[in-house]
Amino acid sequence: MIGDSSSLVFWLPPVFALVTILGVWLYYESRKDPSRESHQHGRLYQCVNCGCVYDEPRQVPMARCPRCDHINEAPLD
Ligand SMILES: [Zn+2]
Repeated sequence: MIGDSSSLVFWLPPVFALVTILGVWLYYESRKDPSRESHQHGRLYQCVNCGCVYDEPRQVPMARCPRCDHINEAPLD
C-alpha cells in the first residue's frame, strides 16, 4: 500500500511538511544555542567608572572591573 501511487499522494505532503518543520526547528535551535550558552555562563557588565565592558562568568550581584577595580552592579536583563 505504500507503493501504491494514489496513497503516496496523501501521505507524502504531510511527511514532507513535518520533515521541513523539523529541519527548520533544528536549524534555529543549533543557531541560537551558542548565544544562550554564553548567556547562562556569564553576564556582561559595563563599568560606570571607566566604561570598560567585561564578562563575569559567575552569577553574582556585583562584579569588579578588571581595568580599574571599580565594583559594578549586575545589569538588568
Ligand atoms: Zn572600570
